[in-house]
Amino acid sequence: MRPHLRPAITTIGLLLALPFAPASATTPIFDAHLHYRPAVTETFGIADVARTLASNEVRSAIMMTPDPALMRRLQAGTDTRLVPFLEVSQRLGRKMDWMHVEDLGDRIATMLDTSEVRWQGLGEFHIMADDRFAPGFEQLLDLAVERDLTIMIHGDPAVIDHAYATHPEVRILWAHAGSYAYPPLVRDYLERHPRMNMDLSMRNPRINPGGNIDDDWFELLLEHADRFMIGVDTFTAHRWKQYTRLKDETRAWLQQLPDDVARAIAFENGERLFPAR
Ligand SMILES: [Zn+2]
Repeated sequence: MRPHLRPAITTIGLLLALPFAPASATTPIFDAHLHYRPAVTETFGIADVARTLASNEVRSAIMMTPDPALMRRLQAGTDTRLVPFLEVSQRLGRKMDWMHVEDLGDRIATMLDTSEVRWQGLGEFHIMADDRFAPGFEQLLDLAVERDLTIMIHGDPAVIDHAYATHPEVRILWAHAGSYAYPPLVRDYLERHPRMNMDLSMRNPRINPGGNIDDDWFELLLEHADRFMIGVDTFTAHRWKQYTRLKDETRAWLQQLPDDVARAIAFENGERLFPAR
């Protein structure tokens, strides 16, 4: 195990030692993993989204939705700068087998061309290793490169390797730091695929077990501080209602990182990778 720079001080110790909360308690957030789906609108409206994001200091965010009209209403109704991603698989009603839809590339191109939203990405796409050779995945990668769109992939390591073997230019955001979020594996993928970045949504328990940041994660986050983003993954209305608690669980480990690393992961990376267009 390599030596690391972890300060010998706990968060509680730090809070007691300082007369004020660390800067990271109010650091703005770039949330790299928001969903807002038509089924959620009745129980959690756009005003609720706007209020939730504002009260949690979410300055900008990747917002995924299948519905362009809903995206425009979200953009009009919130102060948070939203980076729009088109949720193709939701739109097709094909969460796990979208890659087998015939002429998928042409269908996505038509969705993009007939909408007034300036989409900056596509996804989230769930895909297992066995489906990586499907023609629809190939077409998706072609289109992402051609139109300079980032794709959010929730999938196996073999999917990422295959994507970069055939499309070295493609920009991938690997959801949840991949299907097997173990620091040595994550490090290996970051080093081999420089155009891939990672969102850490759903990984609070692994990163911060029992409220103390895991040593291997701590080292990895410092080593590759410019490649990670946080997210809450609001895939249901319930997750939206739990937003503050889930985000606070993320802030609890961000606060154990050096301030410059915490700021990079909390918002600077997202704002650099997805500037206002
Ligand atoms: Zn998701």
